[in-house]
Amino acid sequence: MELIDGKLISQQIKDECKERCAKLKAEGKEPALAVILVGSDPASSIYVNNKKKACEYVGIKSLSYELPEETTEAELLKLIDGLNRDDSVTGILVQLPLPKQINEDAVIRAISPKKDVDGFHVENVGALCVGEPGFVSCTPAGIIQLLKRSNVDIAGKNCVVIGRSNIVGKPMALLMLRENATVTICHSKTADLKGICKQADILIVAIGKPRFINSEYVKEGAVVIDVGIHRDENNKMCGDVDFDDVKDHVSKITPVPGGVGPMTIAMLMNNVIEAKER
Ligand code: NAP
Repeated sequence: MELIDGKLISQQIKDECKERCAKLKAEGKEPALAVILVGSDPASSIYVNNKKKACEYVGIKSLSYELPEETTEAELLKLIDGLNRDDSVTGILVQLPLPKQINEDAVIRAISPKKDVDGFHVENVGALCVGEPGFVSCTPAGIIQLLKRSNVDIAGKNCVVIGRSNIVGKPMALLMLRENATVTICHSKTADLKGICKQADILIVAIGKPRFINSEYVKEGAVVIDVGIHRDENNKMCGDVDFDDVKDHVSKITPVPGGVGPMTIAMLMNNVIEAKER
């Protein structure tokens, strides 16, 4: 069994971004990311801080907007409108989830697709669907990098994606299809999940349930990508995959932590640089 090292690969990507950023700056083009946080959810604050730190490392200017919990949708939309019009702003990121008085879909649609570095806007999702250039959701884009940089052949392989969320499962399946895998998407209504997963050469798990996938779901020698992030009853981090149970049956696997997690921010940095390069 070989571990797919997301820490190492994400560092490589951030270092490549740093070089590209220096080149842009030398041409007088400074990339800037506007990060909007509404409210004071502790997990969201940590994510936002990590994104700012990554910007600092790469050399991207980060503009921070911390709005109170009671911010209205109209106020947030007005801020986004201003940032859309501001040529010095390369990318706009609104940290989700938003407080309940704000409609997330309306907010995502308000961000200019050219500045939608999270890749959530319908225009970018549509571009991915029809094979045109656009921004791709960072977590699935990061998983493609993990596979490629770990020398996993994708073309012609049976890939099973568990989960069909708009930010992970669906774009993941489309990206694997773009890489010429034969793709199956599973969800909570799937009949015979075990049987289908057992066919997978590459199994990508984004089910949102701690240690749900054990060796009964995994074909001998498969590559397993674990998207889940949880804390178990002992406050230990774990994924959607029961790592200890499957590790002797796989050829390659991502650990939690240190697998998919660090890739999301690295790909965000990549998207901001790409937005400025375009
Ligand atoms: P989500 O929106 O909750 O989606 C979970 C998916 O799993 C849904 O499509 C659901 O099916 C499916 N599912 C639930 N129970 C199932 C079952 N028993 N059998 C088969 N499918 C089942 O979650 P998400 O946002 O995609 O995230 C998934 C996981 O990845 C979470 O643990 C999350 O914390 C983690 N995550 C990590 C990162 C990262 O940076 N590493 C980023 C995003 C998310 P239905 O559609 O039928 O309900």
